[in-house]
Amino acid sequence: MFSRILIANRGEIAIRIIRACREMGIETVTVYSEADRDSMHVRLADDAICIGPPPAVESYLNITNIIAAAEIADVDAVHPGYGFLSENSNFSEICHSCNIDFIGPSSESLLLMGDKARARKLAREVGIRILPGNDEPFETDEEALKLAHQIGFPVILKAAMGGGGRGMRVARNDVSLVNSINVARAEAQAAFKDPTIYIEKYLENARHIEIQVLADRHGKILHLGERDCTLQRRHQKLVEESPSPALNPEIRKAMGEAAVSIARAARYVNAGTVEFLLDAEGNFYFIEMNCRVQVEHPVTEMVTGVDIVREQLKIASGQPLAFEQKDVQLQGVAIECRINAEDPENKFRPCPNRITAWFPPGGPGVRLDTHAHAGMLVSSYYDSLVAKLIVHRKTRDECIVGMRRALGEFIIEGIKTTIPLYEQIFGHARFVRGLVNTTFVEDVFTH
Ligand code: ADP
Repeated sequence: MFSRILIANRGEIAIRIIRACREMGIETVTVYSEADRDSMHVRLADDAICIGPPPAVESYLNITNIIAAAEIADVDAVHPGYGFLSENSNFSEICHSCNIDFIGPSSESLLLMGDKARARKLAREVGIRILPGNDEPFETDEEALKLAHQIGFPVILKAAMGGGGRGMRVARNDVSLVNSINVARAEAQAAFKDPTIYIEKYLENARHIEIQVLADRHGKILHLGERDCTLQRRHQKLVEESPSPALNPEIRKAMGEAAVSIARAARYVNAGTVEFLLDAEGNFYFIEMNCRVQVEHPVTEMVTGVDIVREQLKIASGQPLAFEQKDVQLQGVAIECRINAEDPENKFRPCPNRITAWFPPGGPGVRLDTHAHAGMLVSSYYDSLVAKLIVHRKTRDECIVGMRRALGEFIIEGIKTTIPLYEQIFGHARFVRGLVNTTFVEDVFTH
C-alpha cells in the first residue's frame, strides 16, 4: 500500500480523500492555490504545497507545478479527485513517467473514453444499445441537416470532448439545428479547447441512470448497482439516489452487466461510472463513461457499505478486489442533494460571498460531505458546490422525510444556496412518487 500520496484537488473531494487515507494510515499532501490558503483541505492534510495563483489554469490545472509538488513531497501516488486533471490522459502519463502512480485508469482508457464518439463505437461493438447518431464528427451545416433528417428530430448536439453538460444543444427542426451548431461549437471550443461536435437522437422523457464499476488490475470487474441522476438543470445533476425507483431487478441486472462489459472492453482499471439513458419502456442506451470518482459516489457508498475511495487506493496499489458480485447488496435508499452557492430565484447565479453562519444538519442517517464553515469565503474561481447532503434510510419514503427534515435545519447565511429549490422538489408529488424525467426541474421549477 502507498505510504504517502498527493491530492491534486480541493474542496470537499480533497477532504473525502484525506479521510480515506487517514483511516488507511496513508499520509496526505495536498495542493492549494493562493485563493485556498485558508481552506479546510489544507488544514486537514498532513502537508500542503502552494501551486500557484487562484485561476485554475495556473494552479489546479497546472501540470508542471503539480508534478513539481509531487516530486518535492516525495509521494508514491497522486489522487486527482474529480474535475480538474482527473480525466487528463497527458497528466496520468506524466505521473507514470515520473514513477508516481496515478490513482485512476490507464491513459489509454482515459483517451478512449474521453472521446465520446469513440466510446459510442466501443459500446456498439460489445452489443450495448446506443442512441442513433454519427460516430464521425460532421463538418458542414448541410451534413448536419442530412444526419438530423436520417436520425429524426429532436436531436442533440454534443461536444465530442464534453463534460458537465456544456456544449450541448437540443434541436427540434432545421432552423434551430443550424442556429445551434455555431453556439455548440463555440461552447465546446471555450470549455474543452476542441470545437468538435456530433449529433445524437434526443431521447424525450428519459431518466439518467448510471452504474458504478470497480475494476482491479487482475481482471476482476464488479458493479455496485445504479445511481438515478435524473434530477438535473441544464444537463447538470442536482439530486442523485440509489437504488433508482425506476428499475426492476431484470433491468438492474442487464444494466450492470452492460456496464461491466463496456469497462472490460475498455480494459478499464479503478473506479468508473457507465452512464445510460432509460426510456419509458425500460430500454437503456449507453451515453458515456466517466473515468474517475463521481461527485455522487456517496449514495452508492451508503447503500452498498463499500468505501469507494478506499477501493480506489487499494486497486491503484495493486491489491485485488476482496469481494464478489454476489456480496454487493443494496440496503435501504440513499439520496444526495448538491448544495450549491447559487441563487435559484435568480437564474442560479453563483453567489461567491462569505458564509456568515453555518449550522449543519445531523441526526439518524444524515451524512454531510463539505469543506465549508462559518467565515469561509466561497471563491468565485471554482465551482459553486458547498456541500453534499446525503440521507440514508430504510425506505424511499423515510429517506424523503429525512431529507426534508435535514434541509429544514441546515442554516447557511451570507450566501444564497439551492436549498429552497430542494425543499420544493422534495415536497412535489411527482418526485415523491418517483415519476420524474431529466427535464422535470426545468419544466416545473425554473423558467
Ligand atoms: P456530460 O458529459 O456533459 O455530463 P452526458 O452525455 O453525460 O454529458 O449527458 C448529460 C445529460 O444530458 C444527460 O444526463 C441527459 O439529461 C442529457 N442528454 C445527453 N444525451 C442525451 C440524449 N441523447 N437524449 C436526451 N438527453 C440527453
